[in-house]
Amino acid sequence: MEKNIAVIKGDGIGPEIVNEAIKVLDKTAERFGHKFSYKEVLMGGCAIDAEGTPLPQKTIDVCLASDSVLLGAVGGPKWDTLPGDQRPEKGLLGIRKALNLFANIRPAKLFAPLADACPLKKEITDKGLDLVIVRELTGGVYFGKHTTFEEDGVTVADDDMRYHDYEIERIIRVAFDMAKKRSGKVSSVDKANVLDTSRLWRKIAHSISEENPDVQYNDVLVDNCAMQLVRDPSQFDVIVTENLFGDILSDEASMITGSLGMIPSASLGEGSFGMYEPIHGSAPDIAGQNIANPIATILSASMMLRYSFDMGKEADAIDDAVNKVLAEGYRTGDIMSEGMKKVSCSEIGSLIADRI
Ligand code: NAD
Repeated sequence: MEKNIAVIKGDGIGPEIVNEAIKVLDKTAERFGHKFSYKEVLMGGCAIDAEGTPLPQKTIDVCLASDSVLLGAVGGPKWDTLPGDQRPEKGLLGIRKALNLFANIRPAKLFAPLADACPLKKEITDKGLDLVIVRELTGGVYFGKHTTFEEDGVTVADDDMRYHDYEIERIIRVAFDMAKKRSGKVSSVDKANVLDTSRLWRKIAHSISEENPDVQYNDVLVDNCAMQLVRDPSQFDVIVTENLFGDILSDEASMITGSLGMIPSASLGEGSFGMYEPIHGSAPDIAGQNIANPIATILSASMMLRYSFDMGKEADAIDDAVNKVLAEGYRTGDIMSEGMKKVSCSEIGSLIADRI
């Protein structure tokens, strides 16, 4: 198969970690007989320096003409004093909107060799921790009207939480499709005992569940879900939820896996197009030293193969290679522990590529 990938390396450690992901993608293409072509475009601080804007139109055009986008990270102290609408992060929000990426996918998986980094008790993690949070990204209270006003001598703040049926339907379909590529279980998280948006959410989720009898389905109230994630995360496979609940639960789920440098993410739109990036930032404090952990970006590339290119075997090969390298005791500085072998960003990238 031939695929065109738009590459946004970004700022700080972005170029270093993306180079390692490309190394691993190239090895995967060679091993499985595919061809990946890359087109590099600018976004964030480097785009401000080169073109005077964090998101040049050319970047949007190249991304839209590609099969998917691989992103490092943007931002850094050099651009921190610019006004809000000219900052690197504006590029990030802008590109999600321009590409209509309404579904944010964050896996939370505990790699057995890193179990010590997990803050949960061993008897809990022994049962396994491998779930995905599917968060609605472009609706709900974050995109409602926000007003603060005076009424009868008191100050009132009002945030409008709104969902259209089509916004709910498309994100729940993403979750069911994802469950079919994993263990076949969807947990839909809402607050249907209180909120109308949740009651509509649940009604639509039930009708999609009826269309998909091969997928196991359950409803979970958001407060219970927050508790269950730390009590027994092994019960979950795919969790789907609205924007605000997803924001909170995905951070909770990431935290229980241990390290920031290990967690990939995907933002998906209609069809198979997606943007794939690590959840961490540009880490300016360690940029240019070849010591960053590229695994979150390498796992983001693996998600790209699985979800945008339908290359499950190839994605498994990358995930297995990461596991092997960790099991052999190789670590970058951020996940280093006693008795392990400390390696650089480019070394761990090569070790992973060699094991594909
Ligand atoms: P950060 O995630 O960049 O760094 C937090 C800490 O984790 C730092 O000590 C850093 O060295 C470490 N770290 C992060 N990723 C690592 C990796 N792969 N390997 C080893 N260590 C790693 O968060 P921050 O310091 O708050 O933000 C730095 C810049 O990144 C800011 O300009 C911020 O706006 C931006 N940012 C960008 C994104 C994005 O592009 N998606 C996300 C978050 C923050």
